[in-house]
Amino acid sequence: MTTTAPAREEALSILRRLGVGEGAFADDGMPARSPITGEMIAHVRATSPDAAKAVIAQAHTAFLQWRNVPAPRRGELVRLLGEELRAAKDDLGRLVTLEVGKVVSEGLGEVQEMIDICDFAVGLSRQLYGFTIATERRDHRMMETWHPLGVCGVISAFNFPVAVWSWNTALALVCGDPVVWKPSEKTPLTALGVAAILDRALARFGDDAPQGLHGLLIGARDIGEILIDDPRVALVSATGSTRMGREVAPKLAARFARAILELGGNNAAIVAPSADLDLALRAIAFSAIGTAGQRCTTLRRLIVHESVYDNLVPRLVKAYGGVAIGDPRAAGTLVGPLIDADAFDGMERALAEATAAGGTVHGGGRVEGLGGPDAFYARPALVEMPTQTGPMPHETFAPILYVTRYRDFEEAIALHNGVGAGLSSSIFTLDIREAERFVGAAGSDCGIANVNIGPSGAEIGGAFGGEKETGGGRESGSEAWKGYMRRATNTVNYGTTLPLAQGVKFDIDG
Ligand code: NAD
Repeated sequence: MTTTAPAREEALSILRRLGVGEGAFADDGMPARSPITGEMIAHVRATSPDAAKAVIAQAHTAFLQWRNVPAPRRGELVRLLGEELRAAKDDLGRLVTLEVGKVVSEGLGEVQEMIDICDFAVGLSRQLYGFTIATERRDHRMMETWHPLGVCGVISAFNFPVAVWSWNTALALVCGDPVVWKPSEKTPLTALGVAAILDRALARFGDDAPQGLHGLLIGARDIGEILIDDPRVALVSATGSTRMGREVAPKLAARFARAILELGGNNAAIVAPSADLDLALRAIAFSAIGTAGQRCTTLRRLIVHESVYDNLVPRLVKAYGGVAIGDPRAAGTLVGPLIDADAFDGMERALAEATAAGGTVHGGGRVEGLGGPDAFYARPALVEMPTQTGPMPHETFAPILYVTRYRDFEEAIALHNGVGAGLSSSIFTLDIREAERFVGAAGSDCGIANVNIGPSGAEIGGAFGGEKETGGGRESGSEAWKGYMRRATNTVNYGTTLPLAQGVKFDIDG
């Protein structure tokens, strides 16, 4: 256990270095706290509803100009953003640690992910390919073209306060879309830092970038609702809880806006009889305990074959007991604080429900004496469950790992898929048939399915997102860019006759 030093001065000096001006703060603004100490860092000036509408209007005007800038030139802006992020990596990573409580390597890792998606998007800016398609009509050509879509609204969650913005923004910008961002009300400081970094890239880029190409809305969900409801916002990429998704999805559908929904997960791993248990142990510990259980891809359910249960689970319980909890800035700390009191209360409630449902709880509870009365450090909990019951089918955004046994593979898959969320998943096995069945059509029903690695820690090259109550959205790599553009199918007749498709005849005199 480590003691915690104040966070405020360090956060403020990083903000100054990043170029965030005094105008960003106001005495009556939104409070920004550090979960490391619970102390208030600053009050951030909130965006009024009228100002939010003006930002959206300006972004729409910017769209009319930005869509005509050639895509590789748009890519140059993202290349500059990547350079600025490289230069600011230490400061921004540290600010993520101070505002969210991630350990230092994870704060830096989040910024590295931003740099990676910029590199990816720069290459993409020369690869927004459409197909040329065989046509049944003589002297015709059929092709598809990809065009900018419009203003892209980004609503992000507290736990990846900057990476999620970059997944969306790097792609949106090369695709020709301005971005209006509503970060979590729990993480306004990192948002201000990112906006200042982007401003530097914009200043270097020059006149091709219109005013209003990027807008920042500081506020709570009411400000997010303005983005959801505004018809000038063509796409909303919303990351957060499934509860949030249930509220925003019908509104977007009602106005036929495009939605990328990245919602809650309840990720599981199966440990099969042939698993390499040493490897599995390390992967499970990182996926379940890392980031204090506050990743959307955190491992929350472990389904262990009865033949290896008594070997693996006591080792896990031991590992849980020895994990270093404390100030995330201190070397050696593996688990930092929960984001706030609500998160801690949610964890306590879930553990009480698990006990009532017949579970045996190892760990859990508050670590006293760390960080002050408004800082919430919790011991990660491992809960042995008789079956998948009580709170186990639902996401609690805290470090709780439920463990249960299985006998045969089909039962394991049924348990695995028997929850509402469908984000990430994994199997530990050396049996190639099991591995292939797990990633096959009748295996894991998640958007991410891994073999012999845990469910958390994705790379930007693959499309990221999940099925079912996770919302079905895809961001980041692979072909996720197509979600940020509109597709047109074009048929060009370069002949002198007018053959109709499917042999239809329509001859008129004249
Ligand atoms: P949250 O749902 O409380 O808030 C997320 C964002 O949505 C915030 O910016 C919030 O202001 C906004 N919001 C909430 N209700 C809204 C509404 N009705 N209209 C418009 N905006 C609204 O989530 P959180 O506590 O910040 O984050 C944790 C949750 O996010 C977890 O469930 C986690 O699994 C999920 N998450 C998912 C992914 C993913 O990619 N699937 C990534 C990160 C986090």
